[in-house]
Amino acid sequence: MNHISFTIIGIFAIVSLLFPTPTFANYASQINWELIVISSKPACSGYHYYIVEKYHDISEKYLGLYQLDNKAYSPQCMTELKYLTEYEKPHDLDLLILVYDREKGREDLHSQNIGGIYIHEGDDLSRNHTIIFCDCSNFEYSDPVWILSHELSHFVLNNLGFDLKVAEKEIHELDDKFDFCVEVEYNEEDCSSIKTRIETDRSSV
Ligand SMILES: [Zn+2]
Repeated sequence: MNHISFTIIGIFAIVSLLFPTPTFANYASQINWELIVISSKPACSGYHYYIVEKYHDISEKYLGLYQLDNKAYSPQCMTELKYLTEYEKPHDLDLLILVYDREKGREDLHSQNIGGIYIHEGDDLSRNHTIIFCDCSNFEYSDPVWILSHELSHFVLNNLGFDLKVAEKEIHELDDKFDFCVEVEYNEEDCSSIKTRIETDRSSV
């Protein structure tokens, strides 16, 4: 559990440094979102329902950190077939979060060298946002929670109308640096600023 809060706060701390939090709430209208776990099996199992709750909670907390006014549809699990043939997006949905189970993630994402993706379609920044990632073991240096919070950061900044190119570049540079400091090598000169910020934020939550 500690690790989860650490990684969430980590990327939040990084992003909030670039775009200070108090301004966020002023821009946003309510975000309606839904999380769906996609099962590669013929049915949804206990494992699938566990990750439905897990990633829904994390997403909710993360959006809460940005103080975004948001309303979640009940999270659910669907088989691939059911999702393709029966799922109807609620008409007022702004953000859809699709979580692939391990097998589907390995097949559809990791084999393409993708840990997670954030997609926005159309010109209206308030809607048509999709995040896809999987409940897979570490992809390169990132665990699923980190990937989810990373993609949510893209969503939040894009939704609020920040220049996407600038935001993406900054998030990725800091993300790489963070990964390196946490996973590869900690050296005081390059890593101390990131580490300090994360610990500061962490202790206040
Ligand atoms: Zn990214």
